[in-house]
Amino acid sequence: MNLEEFEITKNNSKKTGKEMLQLMKELFPICRSITGNGVRQTLNILKKHIPLEIHEVLTGTKVFDWTIPKEWNIDDAYIIDPDGKKIVDFKNSNLHVLNYSIPVNQKISLSELKNHIHTIPEKPDLIPYVTSYYSEKWGFCMEYNKFLKLKEGDYYVMIDSKLTDGSLTYGEYLIPGKIESEIILTCYVCHPSMCNDNLSGIVLLTMLVKYLKNLQLNYSIRFLFIPETIGAITWLSKNEDNISKIKHGLVVTCVGDSGALTYKKTRNGNEEIDHVVEKVLKKYITNYRILDFFPWGSDERQFCSPGFNLPVGSLLRSIYGKNEFPEYHTSGDNLNFMNIRSLTESFVTYLFVLFELENNFENNLHKFNSDFQNLQNKNDISKLEYNEKYLNLNPKCEPQLGKRGIYHELGGQENMMKQRNLEFAIFWLLNLSDGNWTIHDISKRSGIPIEELQMGIEILINEKLLQKIE
Ligand code: ZN
Repeated sequence: MNLEEFEITKNNSKKTGKEMLQLMKELFPICRSITGNGVRQTLNILKKHIPLEIHEVLTGTKVFDWTIPKEWNIDDAYIIDPDGKKIVDFKNSNLHVLNYSIPVNQKISLSELKNHIHTIPEKPDLIPYVTSYYSEKWGFCMEYNKFLKLKEGDYYVMIDSKLTDGSLTYGEYLIPGKIESEIILTCYVCHPSMCNDNLSGIVLLTMLVKYLKNLQLNYSIRFLFIPETIGAITWLSKNEDNISKIKHGLVVTCVGDSGALTYKKTRNGNEEIDHVVEKVLKKYITNYRILDFFPWGSDERQFCSPGFNLPVGSLLRSIYGKNEFPEYHTSGDNLNFMNIRSLTESFVTYLFVLFELENNFENNLHKFNSDFQNLQNKNDISKLEYNEKYLNLNPKCEPQLGKRGIYHELGGQENMMKQRNLEFAIFWLLNLSDGNWTIHDISKRSGIPIEELQMGIEILINEKLLQKIE
């Protein structure tokens, strides 16, 4: 990409925010999940803009520690109250159904029904987004205020869904550059009607493909539109032989809210992409944040698992989670929550980053020192008590913790804090147990006390996921 081409693209981008929002409106109503027709429909709409290649991976296929689940499809769902009134209707919002819910069709008492309803008491007018991909359950999600008004009597519940042998669907597109070395940009296509956490990444990547696909690039750029977690694991499993081509990468999500641009560094924290994004933010953006890597979040979790340790960061705005935006994983993350200026700014920042990487390539400037590595080596070797090291026995992508009963069953909502803290300890242990980090180092980097790590170690050893290095 030369300067002139870049300028033209950048100037065109002024109307891109509008175009992104338009595409989001079209995609918003679709009920997506990690598999099923919602994903296909989404990718087919994107195909009207960019020449995506669509892949299907069959149910039952082993992908590292995981297995492609049954395909989920849904046509309708509702609850009818004792007066015969439809009080919850999938056709009004697809968030009303527990994502991946098994079918149900029966009369039920109010007290029984309550066991199958999810709400957010702190946000009584919002519908929560809840999933149960790997544990067969049925359920509805609704506004807490409406839930409080449910009257005694018999209810009729209907979920017209299917779980069948089918496949997992994802989209991919490669812009070939002068060399085979790649920049990888990924987003996820598995959330139903939510904008910031899901659609913003999809539309930003679509526009990038649209603007860049006819330019002469040095690097090849690979774009992935995959279901989160299981999709990234599937892609890595199918493309393991070509992983070494990936020189830089970013996970694109939450790029449309009004928060400041935020960069979450790669696992190593000292990759070219880390320096480039930091440089771009410093140069062009007044308000921004840079965060060190942490081993939860989006698909960087898989790309940065110790068996791959790819230079993949994430450039976003507000971090996914209720602390940063209360609309997270609720019906509040809708089109009104989107800010067109933020979308445009995010898009242009991605362009700047790509231009900078291309520029570096041309000037052969990508020689950064490895003081982080040195720092790590010098790290407190004197602390003898906690100098034991462990090895992650499943280093490629995350092991499936859910099937071992050590991960909360329902996805989507943030669960009880104590359970979450133990999960964070487990994520850090799995991510850093590559033989280089002592328990003391892991505690220091994660901020988690050694006693809490100890609990995680016991669990992981029991599950044969971790081994002490003698
Ligand atoms: Zn999410």
